[in-house]
Amino acid sequence: MYEITRRDLILSSAAAAAVLGLDRRVAFLGTAHAQTATAQGFHRYNVGNIEVTALYDGVWERAHDAAFIKNASVEETKAALAAAGMPTDFVPVPFTPNMLKIGGQVVLIDTGTGGQTGGPKAGLFMKHLAAAGVDPGSVNHILISHFHPDHIFGLMTKAPENKPIFPNAAVHVPAVEYTFWMDSAGIEKLAEARRPLARRVQEIFPLIKDNVRTFEGGAEVLPGVRSVDAHGHTPGHTAFHVSSGKDELLVLGDVTNVPALFVRNPGWHAVFDQDATMAEATRRKLLDRVVADKTMVTGYHFPFPAAGKIVKDGSGYAFVAV
Ligand SMILES: [Zn+2]
Repeated sequence: MYEITRRDLILSSAAAAAVLGLDRRVAFLGTAHAQTATAQGFHRYNVGNIEVTALYDGVWERAHDAAFIKNASVEETKAALAAAGMPTDFVPVPFTPNMLKIGGQVVLIDTGTGGQTGGPKAGLFMKHLAAAGVDPGSVNHILISHFHPDHIFGLMTKAPENKPIFPNAAVHVPAVEYTFWMDSAGIEKLAEARRPLARRVQEIFPLIKDNVRTFEGGAEVLPGVRSVDAHGHTPGHTAFHVSSGKDELLVLGDVTNVPALFVRNPGWHAVFDQDATMAEATRRKLLDRVVADKTMVTGYHFPFPAAGKIVKDGSGYAFVAV
């Protein structure tokens, strides 16, 4: 599979040196290590006293189509994949929710596809959660970045069963996102393609309403985890800043999709971005911030284990996996 054979990104030597020089504790995952991590389905690391586990939910091998990136052609898309050492037959879009252990609390950030979206190679999240030794009943909190299917369909089994998968978890959702998708009059304002999702959102959340908590931008949602408004991809799309002691991690969610395309070319507009202009402004702002602060990041659609640093690289940026 692409994410275990490719060498992350082809960086200019200056960019690579900048990363290597900035933090001696950064240990690069070699191809073999990334391969092992993907095969076992999870990868652990620490942010201060917080234990982070990246959990692999699989990959969507998305067929090329001209509508995928509004301002780049299929040929340009293939060229960017090739430049990153990736196969060009399709766009590989992996899914990586994260789990945090904060004190004794088990926290998920997003829940994966639930095997209900993302094609036949997605839906491995529950298997890999079990491999990481976690029972769904022991999950205390779930933080949701936004309400796209690949982030929330893992909350509940398929209709008509609709059984909550994490019955004991408080589900923390961005207030703006919740209000937008739960507005029944708002469905009519959505693009046709998004209406079934809105209906599903309005089916899921009332069934777990006793567990749902909304939070505002900038709120400390849990100890050491602060929400960061990252609107544009969706109206309430949210990143999470995780910190403990001197260590920090910015959980980017879908601020950018596949890095070989959209970190390298931050001005490219993926069809998934609801307000593409706002999404691009958010992307540039947050990428500039993590470059300046040398902050570790994780991205939901980054190659597993989806953690590393961002550096400036020519006119765009590059993701350097750790
Ligand atoms: Zn997504």
